[in-house]
Amino acid sequence: MQNLKLPITIDPYRSAQRSLECEGIFETSGMNRLLAACESSSEHVHVKVEFGVDELGLVFISAKGSATVVLTCQRCTEAFEHKLLIDFVFSPVKDEEAAENLPSYYDAIELDENGEVNLRDLVEEELLLVIPLIPRHELKDCQSPSDSVWGQLPVEHEKPNPFDVLKKLK
Ligand SMILES: [Zn+2]
Repeated sequence: MQNLKLPITIDPYRSAQRSLECEGIFETSGMNRLLAACESSSEHVHVKVEFGVDELGLVFISAKGSATVVLTCQRCTEAFEHKLLIDFVFSPVKDEEAAENLPSYYDAIELDENGEVNLRDLVEEELLLVIPLIPRHELKDCQSPSDSVWGQLPVEHEKPNPFDVLKKLK
């Protein structure tokens, strides 16, 4: 696996004209939102990205990536490793109107003032989206047997029998 550092921002138009394909890494040390959302993370996010122009003449950025993070299981509170996989296709747009006209299979990404997109932010955002809302082990790996008792009703206290009172009166 190559550990070539990918550029943080890139000009999607120029890259698309060259049908650029690149594979490399982003360091997660620069991804504060990702780090805040998990216990810890692998040092790198491995990303493969392709730029191109489709048959409609639209520029696209297609990327696949993966990173391993440590999350806390919400069932047993033990930490566990979880692999995050991302796979997305974006098309750069200059404004909101252009974004609305995009075919639905593209997500819009706005260009910055230099006409570039921030690839690292994009990857971080996608990673955040695939972190489970309620992280949990696979059942077989989970330390907590609590799931097996979830189906049982809590034990009800016996209701006092009103006739007991009458018995006492006799
Ligand atoms: Zn667990």
